[in-house]
Amino acid sequence: MERMDRPVEQSPDVIRRLLDSQYGISGDIKRLPGENENYRVLMDDGRNLILKLAGVGAPGDMLLLEQRILKHLADSELDLIFPTNVLTLKGDTLAKFTLEDGAVVQARLQTFLAGTPWVEAPPASNDLLRDLGAKLAHLDLTLASLNDRAATRSHRWDLMNALQHRAALILVEDSNLRKIVDQMFQLYAARVPDQISNLPRSLIHGDANNENLLVEGDSLIGLVDFGDSLMNPVICELAIALAYVMLGLEDPLVAASEVVRAYHKVRPLTQTELELLYPLLCARLCTTIVVAAERRSIDPDHPTWFVTEQAAKSLLEQLSLMAPHEAARRLAAGTGIVIYPVQGLSVDVLREERQRLISPSLSLAYTSPLKIVRGEGQYLFDEQGWPYLDLVNNVCHVGHCHPTVVEAGQQQMAKLNTNTRYLYDGLTAYAERLCATLPDPLEVCFLVNSGSEANELALRLAEAYTGRKDFLVIDGAYHGNTGRLVDLSPYKFLGKGGKGGAESWVHVVPMPDGYRGIHRGYGQETGIAYGDEVGRVISACNAPLAGFMAESLLGCGGQIIPPVGYFERAFEHVRGVGGVCIIDEVQVGFGRVGTHFWAFERYGVVPDIVVMGKPIGNGHPMGAVVTTRAIADAFANGMEFFSTFGGNPVSCAIGMAVLDVIQEQGLQQNALELGQYFLEGLHGLKAQHDIIGDVRGAGLFIGVELIRDRDTLEPATTEAKRLVEHMKAEGILLSTDGPFHNVIKIKPPMVITREDIDMVLRLMGDALAGLHAA
Ligand code: PMP
Repeated sequence: MERMDRPVEQSPDVIRRLLDSQYGISGDIKRLPGENENYRVLMDDGRNLILKLAGVGAPGDMLLLEQRILKHLADSELDLIFPTNVLTLKGDTLAKFTLEDGAVVQARLQTFLAGTPWVEAPPASNDLLRDLGAKLAHLDLTLASLNDRAATRSHRWDLMNALQHRAALILVEDSNLRKIVDQMFQLYAARVPDQISNLPRSLIHGDANNENLLVEGDSLIGLVDFGDSLMNPVICELAIALAYVMLGLEDPLVAASEVVRAYHKVRPLTQTELELLYPLLCARLCTTIVVAAERRSIDPDHPTWFVTEQAAKSLLEQLSLMAPHEAARRLAAGTGIVIYPVQGLSVDVLREERQRLISPSLSLAYTSPLKIVRGEGQYLFDEQGWPYLDLVNNVCHVGHCHPTVVEAGQQQMAKLNTNTRYLYDGLTAYAERLCATLPDPLEVCFLVNSGSEANELALRLAEAYTGRKDFLVIDGAYHGNTGRLVDLSPYKFLGKGGKGGAESWVHVVPMPDGYRGIHRGYGQETGIAYGDEVGRVISACNAPLAGFMAESLLGCGGQIIPPVGYFERAFEHVRGVGGVCIIDEVQVGFGRVGTHFWAFERYGVVPDIVVMGKPIGNGHPMGAVVTTRAIADAFANGMEFFSTFGGNPVSCAIGMAVLDVIQEQGLQQNALELGQYFLEGLHGLKAQHDIIGDVRGAGLFIGVELIRDRDTLEPATTEAKRLVEHMKAEGILLSTDGPFHNVIKIKPPMVITREDIDMVLRLMGDALAGLHAA
């Protein structure tokens, strides 16, 4: 999209009249290539000038900024030539000129510099590369002393705003290139915004591209076009120059490291600057590619718009073959600053060590497992520096290593950690805050260390209250890793290595699966039908029932969203025979479903016991059970309940911080809005790809069920696995679940953004198309 402040190309006649009336000069006129309206004026006396036009809408202070920069540089001692301002007859740096149609243009006239643009010069020698590095650094140091308010601006080439181009990435037709650009934008998104405040900022040229750098032999002699100058992290200057210097080279990083080394000698780079140089320069190449794609839809035959596109593509493809840390290390090679030192064991060695030392019953995700070294927000980073968008981790609910949570834990750990046999403010303050999220009469809190421990306790509470031992559970459910909970989890006892059948005290009710279950649909009728299945099982088993344990939405069961009315009817049956209703919110609680803080609230029911885990401590091992006064009293029969670590001051501080962040960052609302957005996008994919049988979800708890046939619903298990592996290779972490392992699980940290979702949808669309083709 071209901006309103740009004038259209003017005829030589108009330019001649402008020059005559405003400057009193005449000469030969030639429009210059590039996106701006620049004209070369060869004067009759042999002098060369450049006339720059802007629309009347272009803010004058921005145009004057360029003139002020040129004046500042003319007064400096830099060993470079720059254009100088030519004044109007009235002595102004800016001229206003009315065109025949009444439109007004603003004009500036500058001297035109001789010298060969970098792009037209022979391949750069090492001397030239070093000269560029040193002179760019001197330029940045000189510009740093110019403070100009007009420089606080942004434009489409502003590297700090590179992610503005992510939305238009869909216009890039080549899916392989699109994938690479997506990965590079993700690298930027995961690294740069977070570090911006650690980067030195000042005024920069902002467009040291291969047309603006002027060369003579082994020297950089000049720099033109300050039209994109702006206040920016200074490192962007170098990143932009490198993106062009590296074009078309066999070993671009070697050439780039020469420039970096020479730059560093003059203006020493910080470690963060060196670390961010690589994602920044890749983002510049990505910008070139996306802007070219955008422009193609405006004028596919434009003579100058696509000049760097092909070379940028090739360079980005070349760079994408190398891991980010390795590329960054090579760039920094000559500076003496060590970045990303190789630490720890390799993936292969770690695998062997794990086989030797860790129980073989633990599995590893992905065919080729990931070594993860860092987490931040919605991203995990492998040891090579690739970021992965984590769409599976509902534990790191408010984002990996959230600083507020980390700090709360660190501060409390440095002050006191003890157990619940002492009085301390944190315990009751946290219990009060947690209970306040729940409806009456849920008011008594037990704090433990895991979801399993919490579910175990919930069973004991129900037993103590009812004096009975039998439990109902939903088919496909998982409730924990203890002996009793494995016996109560059909996902386990009917799965690989399980007993193959239920213990006598366990009674399984059908999974309320509106897609492939015994009743289909998501309406009230289906909910009631499934609720009545609970009544049927109760009657059939004819056993004294202690309770019904159910996840509000089934996770391991395949991201199942029970139809409306289900829990209301099921609870009626359970309570009708004196049983207790236990709701396991371990996977889905704490605002994930968006509409409510707890997923059971979607169904308008109030359980007798609520079990919490995973997100409660954002990764710190915690679990909780909240119940009614009557049940808690029945349990207090004289035997003490004590969990050594449960409810310790550190856990309470962390739990409190998690609740703070959910509230302060509006994460429940984010889950609501982005969950809806995600679901809409996935429904769009379902319309295009028959392999998607069902898309279902609540907030940021989403399932995509893959099938081979829309009539038989034959599960597409191998395809689901292939899709997950494929997406992982492209930087997106997903997993499968459900009885047939054909459901793609989506339950990301709640800080995920719309841009992340757009990327997932783009890449998933391509990957699904690939599945068809395979
Ligand atoms: N309940 C549900 C619904 C779960 O998904 C899990 C863990 N996957 C648990 C309980 C057990 O929690 P933990 O692993 O913390 O013991």
